[in-house]
Amino acid sequence: MGDALLQKEYTTDTVPFRKKRNHGEKAQYYVENSNPPIISWEVFQAAQRLQESRITVTRREHNSILSGILRCPDCGSTFRRQLLRGTVYWMCSDKAAGATKCKSRRVRENAVFDTFCLMAEKLASHRQDLLGTLIHQLGMMQNHGSESQEKIRQIDKQIADLSAQNLVVARLHTNGVLNATDFAAQSSVISNKINALRLDRKKALAEDEDDELIYTLKSLDDTLDGYVPGTPFSQALFEEIVQSITVVDNSRLTFHLVAGLAFTEQIPENARCRTA
Ligand SMILES: [Zn+2]
Repeated sequence: MGDALLQKEYTTDTVPFRKKRNHGEKAQYYVENSNPPIISWEVFQAAQRLQESRITVTRREHNSILSGILRCPDCGSTFRRQLLRGTVYWMCSDKAAGATKCKSRRVRENAVFDTFCLMAEKLASHRQDLLGTLIHQLGMMQNHGSESQEKIRQIDKQIADLSAQNLVVARLHTNGVLNATDFAAQSSVISNKINALRLDRKKALAEDEDDELIYTLKSLDDTLDGYVPGTPFSQALFEEIVQSITVVDNSRLTFHLVAGLAFTEQIPENARCRTA
């Protein structure tokens, strides 16, 4: 048995831009076939944390929160920082290296910050229409709330019980109480039950994914609720809600936010780069 109960903390790639969070209820999760045993999962988690801290360090070294954030729509490369006559610009790194023929999309760093402020302002003022509607619709679609959490807990308990039964049966066989035929029959019944429960568990988990999306949207809604119109660029807000930015052309940026949301905003005219 290589299965294990684990605390929830992982990243999902099924829906973009979502990081799984432990809501604080410290629910345990049953992980199928976690062979080799649990220690490797802990090592894996430790490695992930290390990787995350490295990413943070890398960002700080470049001394800009835009490192790795701006993307070229032509080649997909991230943008590179350039200092020209006292002004900070960002440019497609492959283009800057002369490796591609991407359309020039040099963008001033301050223009990105200004455009972010415009986007955040609009998002905050249309918060109810945009996020409120989404949250409501998602809630209507699933209509099970925290039921899936409870369902998963129940299934985990049943699987744990059956696994314990399996152990007892195996011990009885080893001690000669159960003959080979009876042992095979009994373990097969238990295995079938466990397999059926695993399927149920997958379904419940899929429902929980929707809960997670609503949670992310609600956090975003909460954050924007506290947004004061006209506030200057906030690094904290930027880091909290922006996943990446596509530099569409010299007049537009597309902000990819948490929960898979994306908004395109015009760069203020006086902040645009005119040069080709
Ligand atoms: Zn490019």
